[in-house]
Amino acid sequence: MRTLTDIEAVDLCEAMRLGVMGRSPRAASVVEEIRKGDWRSLPPRERGTLAIACVLGIDPMAPSGRRHARQLLIDLENAGMLHHADGTHVGEAPAPVITELQTKDRDTLAADLRFIMDDRFPAKLLQVAGPMAAIELMNRNCLRLKDTKSAEFLAMIAYPIFVADRPRRRWLFRYGLMGELKETRGNRHDALKILGDLAHRVGVSDAELNIILGFFTGAIKADSNNAAWCAAEPRCGDCPLQPSCSYGRFRLKQGAAATSVGKRNLATAMLPEDRPREKLARAGAGSLTPAELLAILLRTGTDKEHAVELAAKILRTAGSLDRLAHMSIGELTRIEGLGPVKAVTIQAALELARRLSSSTTPDEQPSVTSSRDVYEHLRPYFLNRRKEQFVALLLNSKRRIQRQIVVSEGILNQSLVHPREAFQEAVKDSASAVIFAHNHPSGDPKPSRDDIAITHRLAKTGAILGIPVLDHVIVGGDNYYSFAESGTLEGNA
Ligand code: SF4
Repeated sequence: MRTLTDIEAVDLCEAMRLGVMGRSPRAASVVEEIRKGDWRSLPPRERGTLAIACVLGIDPMAPSGRRHARQLLIDLENAGMLHHADGTHVGEAPAPVITELQTKDRDTLAADLRFIMDDRFPAKLLQVAGPMAAIELMNRNCLRLKDTKSAEFLAMIAYPIFVADRPRRRWLFRYGLMGELKETRGNRHDALKILGDLAHRVGVSDAELNIILGFFTGAIKADSNNAAWCAAEPRCGDCPLQPSCSYGRFRLKQGAAATSVGKRNLATAMLPEDRPREKLARAGAGSLTPAELLAILLRTGTDKEHAVELAAKILRTAGSLDRLAHMSIGELTRIEGLGPVKAVTIQAALELARRLSSSTTPDEQPSVTSSRDVYEHLRPYFLNRRKEQFVALLLNSKRRIQRQIVVSEGILNQSLVHPREAFQEAVKDSASAVIFAHNHPSGDPKPSRDDIAITHRLAKTGAILGIPVLDHVIVGGDNYYSFAESGTLEGNA
């Protein structure tokens, strides 16, 4: 997998944007609408119309598609199926004209629309943090709009989200930003994260980049001036991204004969300068991603994936380098494609890295004397992280950080942050004290009820083990909350 510098990311998005908008007037007008649009103030009937279009696969941007979806909405209203929260229903006269829907489909669609057209819908969306939580909200409340469909609907109303459908993921894979292309939830989740990071770094809204990518990959139909370069059959010859795309360069090298480049060919499609070993020799080890470094250790891939893809899969399975360093040979060999020889090689390399890092003198390790020190130390680490992550800083007797470990990742609650896991490494390392910290991707560091309960539980455990919990810091963007500073850290007495 490749990583882009900020400049490369800007160049990439700009080339795609100019290409798409220059080719397709329709794309230009949709982007313009998205820029002006505000999903929070969209009228309920407009939301309803777009939801119907999404469920039935109608193009709401085409006048005939829009009329069709609106007619179905009016039919459902007239049939008295769209009740308001106060019990009244929209529509004045019953008109059973909904001929194209089966009764069951009609009932489920009406139930979805009642949720979507409810006046409280924008407020409910505002309450959830981020695109994944928005999709979860839709999944819980809508039968006909789940996962990719719900992302499509949210994108249609200009909510800041990406649609991780196959065309967009296929582009990520071809361009080298994603290691594999699979029809799994994890693969879609990875794509959402990569695209979100890209938009964030370039400074473009998720909604806008999603639309541009939709036209570029053929997920959204353009007008006659076809702007879909990277569709099922890519048109690399005149693609604006071709100079920076390994897949595109390979196809051009192979000439017209390379009409279908599959996964295996993509492995050999890596140009010499992109291969990890050559890249390391040319630009130094610091220029390689963790997956590329790991690929050098693995040396070879499998029949199904080349070494970089295998390395990326191993890192994804482990969750982080830190966790990889703590996996046993048995756990490692359970990963498909990773045999005992490769597993032992990984363990040996990580053990060397561990010894190297612990060979620094204690005076070289950063010290923490205040909550602000903790915040300053962790702010770069949590920057742009879209998932919550709970970390522990293990301190020595001089309050210097001897190790930082990841305890848990995901929506943090009491069951995910268990004292046993939280203190396991502190006990192993004979730490003198510990500081816990986690991030709030929403940017608001205010502690939740779960955060407060977790803190009290950990502080009590620390007191029993003789490893005091000095603080629990919540990092939210440019701000932080400290349980120690606020005087609410209990249990160390
Ligand atoms: S060069 Fe080809 S593979 Fe690469 S982004 Fe363009 S169309 Fe897709």
